[in-house]
Amino acid sequence: MIPVPWPDISAVVFDVDGTLYDPRPVRRRMTLALLRHVLRRPWQWRLPLELQRFRREREALAEEGAHGIARLQFERPAAALGIEVDRMEELVREWMLTRPLPAVAAAAYPGLADVFDALRASGRRVAVWSDYPAEEKLAALGLRAEVVVSATDPEVDRLKPDPRGLEVALARLGASAEHCLLVGDRDERDGEAARRAGVEWRLKVRETRGDPRGFVDYDELLCGLE
Ligand SMILES: [Mg+2]
Repeated sequence: MIPVPWPDISAVVFDVDGTLYDPRPVRRRMTLALLRHVLRRPWQWRLPLELQRFRREREALAEEGAHGIARLQFERPAAALGIEVDRMEELVREWMLTRPLPAVAAAAYPGLADVFDALRASGRRVAVWSDYPAEEKLAALGLRAEVVVSATDPEVDRLKPDPRGLEVALARLGASAEHCLLVGDRDERDGEAARRAGVEWRLKVRETRGDPRGFVDYDELLCGLE
């Protein structure tokens, strides 16, 4: 990995899903939980399809760079599925935000609290920027950030790779783009947003595969931090 130019960096903005925890065991646990739930309530057999539809429509909203996403993210899949918007919202809150929290906590990447502490101890500020509400996940992970920004915050209202949320995080941190580092896990979302905002970025990956900005271990990211 290209070393982070730490002397130039005064603020670090972290993505959440896939960056602060491993999403694979969470997905596996939630798939099993969903199956068990539906086996006991066969009349709810459409539930997995409804959640899948929500995810697909949300990816499409991100691709389009849509505005008004706080409502659209529920209205679009609800209309396609012929269910109430409130019902869609309730399902997403239950199955994608609340129920996964214990699995998210169990899948935390090790040592992240120390990483956040080391950054703070070195005088840097820490923010979190997610396409989903992040407060509860942060609490489940035992992490604290000075600034927490979500795509659906009224002043953001854009999904990644639109850099609006990153810019809002920077404004709240009082940091400028050239003194910020974004840490994410998806090049086409986090990496692209960073490039558009003129921000330095690194990606948490499972194997580096020659990606000059990919790191496997958080120790590698902090290398040279003073
Ligand atoms: Mg992510």
